Amino acid sequence: MRTLLATAAALCLACAGGPAPGGALPPEGSRVLDLSHAYDADTIFWPTEEGFVLETEFDGVTPGGWYYSAHRFRSAEHGGTHIDAPIHFFAGGRTVDEIPPEQLMGEGVSIDVSQVCASDRDHLIGVADLEAWESRHGEIPHGAIVLLRTGFGRFWPDRVRYLGTDERGAGAVAKLHFPGLDPDAARWLVEERGIRAVGLDTASIDRGQSTTFLSHRTLFEKNVPAFENLAGLDALPPRGFRVIALPMKIRGGSGGPLRVVAIVP
Ligand SMILES: [Zn+2]
Repeated sequence: MRTLLATAAALCLACAGGPAPGGALPPEGSRVLDLSHAYDADTIFWPTEEGFVLETEFDGVTPGGWYYSAHRFRSAEHGGTHIDAPIHFFAGGRTVDEIPPEQLMGEGVSIDVSQVCASDRDHLIGVADLEAWESRHGEIPHGAIVLLRTGFGRFWPDRVRYLGTDERGAGAVAKLHFPGLDPDAARWLVEERGIRAVGLDTASIDRGQSTTFLSHRTLFEKNVPAFENLAGLDALPPRGFRVIALPMKIRGGSGGPLRVVAIVP
């Protein structure tokens, strides 16, 4: 059947005189990198959240003789690889279903700050870090999706190494230690570089020790969403790739699960 389909597809291409206008998607020779963690019982959520729960409704052979599988899941919006919609920290901001898809796809840059974050878990990724990257790789393009590689993705799903604590509940929040974006750098990315979105491989765009969540607020006032708990950033080149980040379309949602990929030529 697969061979038949392949033959039919080949014939169809041949009769149409070649590939469709615009070429294959993803473009031939390019790689698609998955930047999302899977959701399971080990998925990291904020210490105050329950986590991801998957319940089996049915899994097996039905009385009718066919196989059938179905589950139901329960999850906070903010856990695993997810998007923060602007309304998460700004009353006038867009809800997740209101973010235009055009804002969630575009040219990506990957800024490696893993070295400094390895020696300082509380590092604030500052304008100086971003300018150091620019001096080597050129200016961050207007409308870019900026991915910050702290290196903490390699700790997933070890909560102690990733979050700084495996304690749960409100009392654990003060014990969070992981790097994040400096609010001044958030403002610089929005105002000086006009970015589409920003993401990183930690649990929050503000560092773990933040108590004011000012980077969240700075970004979201300008309707720039954030991607959190990204996976696989170490496989990205500094620039020259595209990002597609499509979240679950929850009406009125402040965020939600995000399937994000990079297309690398
Ligand atoms: Zn979030």
